[in-house]
Order: sequence, then structure tokens, then C-alpha cells
Amino acid sequence: MPAQWLIGNWKMNGSMDSNAALLTEIRQVSGSAKMAVAVPHPYLSQARDALSGSEVQVSAQNLSAFEKGAYTGEVSALMLCEFGVKLALVGHSERRHLFGESDEVVAAKTIAALNARLTPVVCVGETLTEREAGNAKEVVLRQLNAVIDGIGAERLSRCILAYEPVWAIGTGKTASPEQAQEVHGWLREIAVQSGAAGVSILYGGSVKANNAAEMFAQPDVNGGLIGGASLDANEFIAIYQALC
Ligand code: PEP
Repeated sequence: MPAQWLIGNWKMNGSMDSNAALLTEIRQVSGSAKMAVAVPHPYLSQARDALSGSEVQVSAQNLSAFEKGAYTGEVSALMLCEFGVKLALVGHSERRHLFGESDEVVAAKTIAALNARLTPVVCVGETLTEREAGNAKEVVLRQLNAVIDGIGAERLSRCILAYEPVWAIGTGKTASPEQAQEVHGWLREIAVQSGAAGVSILYGGSVKANNAAEMFAQPDVNGGLIGGASLDANEFIAIYQALC
């Protein structure tokens, strides 16, 4: 059985004060599902300390594809490990579309994470134009296969996958549970072929407390990657409760 996960993605939000309040609330959650929060790099040590002794893990939102060296502004996987980070998002659509990260770069970052024993949360998803052109399957499978080609099929089971349709991120427009399940089914098929049937596949895109339960009831939806709603402790905890 795939592990159930709820991962909050704070994006470029937060302050020492607002983080402290949010972390104090979410560190109290307990339930059958795993939880992590992906915080901006400067707040990693704050999150590690505030979540110490709790079940909630710390994730990075990004990492460098390189190990070390003359890469100004980059943060390596091993540096993240020194701050208690256990997971790292890779291939989030904002990285792909706003910062030009190609499938090859996403694969290289996934390799860097795995080599440092971090769990990469590999995000895939199609744009609205791609969906309307009937290309959703081709796009998400191309994105996933690029990662599998890079890491080798045998390491896919050490990843978490997240399907995040670009048209649903931060738009208030969520995929229907049936649309999500269809894509998760395609991803599961590739995972099974790769010997990673038990990989967790999360859905992300405008999940809120009022639509989470029906999404999580889909057979191949093993939890959520939550953006905006993860900044509100009550909402995030309510989503977690819908998963447990
Ligand atoms: C995300 O950023 O990964 C995300 C799913 O955002 P939102 O929940 O705000 O749509």
C-alpha cells in the first residue's frame, strides 16, 4: 500500500513570526498519514527546530542539480540535509514555467536528491492548452519518463510523485476527482512497469478542506500537495483530517 502523504508548499510566503504560529499548530497533528511542510530555504532551521519531536517532516521547495562548486545562488542537497530536510520538491510547475526548468534539469535534481538520501517529490502536470489539445497523457508521461530515464527505474520507489495540473494551481479551479484519478492511473501504470507499484502519488491544485475528501477517496490518490491552503493552520489540518 502506498503511504498517504500531505505536503504543504508554502511557496515564497512566510515570516519568522507567521511561521512560528503556523508551525506551533501543525506540529500537534497526529494521524495515520505522513505530513511535511516545504518551506523557503531561509526558514529551514526554524522549521526543523519548531517541528523537532513531532511527526511533521521538513521539505525543501527546490535544490541544486549540482553537488557543490561555483554555482552562485544554488543550494545543494547535502546542505539541505544539514538542516534536517528529508524531502525536496522537484519539477514544480512554477519552477518549470517561471524558471525554465526542463525535463532534463528536473531529472538531474531528482538524481541529486536521491544521491543525498532525500526523498524527491517529483511534480508533473499539463497546462490548460495541453489538456484542451488532448495531450495531457503525453505530457505527464513524458515528464515522468524523463525522470525515470535519469534515475533508473529501480530508484522510482524512493520518490513521491505529485500530479499537479498547471491550470489548477492557485486558480481555485480543481481537477474533478475523476480527472485526477485518470491521470493517477496512467502514472501508476508506469510505476508498476518500473517495479514501483507502491509509490505514493499525490494530487495538487486548489485542494481545500471542502474538496479534499472526495479527491482522497480516489484509489490512486495517496494524498495531497497543498499550496495556498497550507498557509492556514485550520484549513491545512482539516485537509489532513480528510486524509486520515
Ligand atoms: C502547489 O503550489 O503545489 C499547489 C498545489 O498550489 P495550490 O494548492 O495553491 O493550488
